[in-house]
Amino acid sequence: MELACLDLEGVLIPEIWIAFAEETGIDELKATTRDIPDYDVLMKQRLRILDEHGLKLPKIQDTISRLKPLDGAREFIDWLRERFQVIILSDTFYDFAAPLMKQLGYPALLCHKLEVDENGRITDYTLRQKDPKRQSVRAFQLLNYRVIAAGDSYNDTTMLMQAEAGVLFHAPQNVIDEFPQFPAVHTFDDLKKEFLTASCRDLTL
Ligand SMILES: [Mg+2]
Repeated sequence: MELACLDLEGVLIPEIWIAFAEETGIDELKATTRDIPDYDVLMKQRLRILDEHGLKLPKIQDTISRLKPLDGAREFIDWLRERFQVIILSDTFYDFAAPLMKQLGYPALLCHKLEVDENGRITDYTLRQKDPKRQSVRAFQLLNYRVIAAGDSYNDTTMLMQAEAGVLFHAPQNVIDEFPQFPAVHTFDDLKKEFLTASCRDLTL
């Protein structure tokens, strides 16, 4: 049995924090896991910046409500789900992802949870576990699934290594250069081909 595991931001939807940084004009919020590989360091920086500017969860959700999946993402997910069981493994938060998951047809999503006080201030966050993407793949393998995974950034690389096959999609050149063991593609058509190549089964486009 085969499972397809996909990253969310940068693969199927825009980077939420970059969109929010653009709307608010706060450049410091543009940093992502592409720039700061340690997610904990990155999130602490984001929460500090939000507090400095008095920005709360509803303001971020307002930005997210206007975002759309990347061009071709919904069609790609539908194509993939006809051929594989699909699980989205993301470092985003359920509090952010809901409206975008609706537009993607509600695939299964494993991610994290924000801690929010009664005024909407994000006080903290709960990571589901350490190295969650790799641990998820490990768990699926214990259930006798063979995993093909795709992601765009540093926080995906342990997932790609753990999986039986890993693919970089939309990755920046520094990630591609650091992880030459993974094929790197930039269009959904090429990503489909990588999934077909990596599969043990005889699938067709
Ligand atoms: Mg990503």
